[in-house]
Amino acid sequence: MNDIDILKILAENLSNRKSNAILSNYEVLCNNIDYVNKTLKFSLLRLEQTQKSIADKMQDDTLVNIDFQDANNPLFYFRTIIPRILLNGSNVCNKLLLLTEADEKISKQENLYKCERSFSKYNDLVTGARQYIDSLVADVYQLVLLEPKSLNYHILVSLNSFNKYATKSLRQGLFNEPINDALTEFEKLNFDKWKNSPITKCAHDTFAKKVNYLFQELNITDTNNLKDEIKNLFKFSSEFAHIGFVSTFFTSTYDNEVILTSESGTLLYLPSTENFSELKYRILETAMNFYCIVYLPAIIDCCMKVFQKDTFKSIKEELIFQINDVKARVATRNSKYYFFILNGLIESKQVISLKCRCNAVRLWTPPHEAGNLFCLECGSVFNLIVIDKDGYIPTDEGPARPVGSSLPDVNELPIAEQEILFEQCNACKVKK
Ligand SMILES: [Zn+2]
Repeated sequence: MNDIDILKILAENLSNRKSNAILSNYEVLCNNIDYVNKTLKFSLLRLEQTQKSIADKMQDDTLVNIDFQDANNPLFYFRTIIPRILLNGSNVCNKLLLLTEADEKISKQENLYKCERSFSKYNDLVTGARQYIDSLVADVYQLVLLEPKSLNYHILVSLNSFNKYATKSLRQGLFNEPINDALTEFEKLNFDKWKNSPITKCAHDTFAKKVNYLFQELNITDTNNLKDEIKNLFKFSSEFAHIGFVSTFFTSTYDNEVILTSESGTLLYLPSTENFSELKYRILETAMNFYCIVYLPAIIDCCMKVFQKDTFKSIKEELIFQINDVKARVATRNSKYYFFILNGLIESKQVISLKCRCNAVRLWTPPHEAGNLFCLECGSVFNLIVIDKDGYIPTDEGPARPVGSSLPDVNELPIAEQEILFEQCNACKVKK
């Protein structure tokens, strides 16, 4: 291909947008977005309490390590700066939470305009995600590094930019004489010395380098390619933050959209609403993984350096609890569950009731299409194992009663019979 061939392809294919593809179940998406958003919201409330307690403890000389007690040691000043960095993180998280709330449920056609998703909505969401990942990485980088010159660089660059355009009143609130002196000292440096001078240092000057450093320092086993996922979100959001060609092309259309109805018939939405929610959910998942796998562990790492053993132990226990709690909650979404079902039921005219682990009940109506074997509430997929004879089946998680069984629920059996069944389950585990 030559230059004209390429230009032809771009002109012909990127000037008229193709129709949207609907690839997910909108109702499930909304439920999952709501669930994950609230999980992160509750976790953040709890984290904010922990942060307050960390801030209080940092002011107590008897709780911090010896290097942090001595005003002649530069580490002493991190005791006032760390709580500020943590507070910054909460503000950034709260903003993302506002932008990733589930859609308002719309059932009347005249309200459909509320769920149309065009460029400005996309831009708000994606730039919010950009700010989240960008600022939190910068923040935890400082928390893990705890290095005076690097922190100086981080703050002085920010002050320098702010000072270039801030109005008189904004400047008034921030710049006193000592701050002006520090900034003047920084501005005396040649630009090429900013990253390595007697007062400043920046060893990892790009987003990607900071991410690599954090994964290495925190010993993160990256089983699910979170490192790439974070970097990809950063690149994807650059396109939106700088309003590149593709982002406006993708999100602006002159055509009217078709109106869609959810499976249960209660929700109305547009293709752009569904596409937007898909992206919102992906961002939420990345944000949540980053929170559990990088952000909270970085706070633990920082506290380990600052606090004495016993104080650190209690903070660590609390933060590990928060990490495991969020992980366990999120793991219940989009899972795969197995049900035993009696032979003949699938071919029958009966409505089959399948109770998901999230407690939602899926009513599987004849002709029992395999494509409908999922939970509308949490998106988990159901796999059926057909069995010929009615009876309790020993599994790793206890005795299971097949769907369509005429036997009572295990909990309703006499205790002695329940014990026998659980013993059978244990025996299976041992055999394995
Ligand atoms: Zn479910």
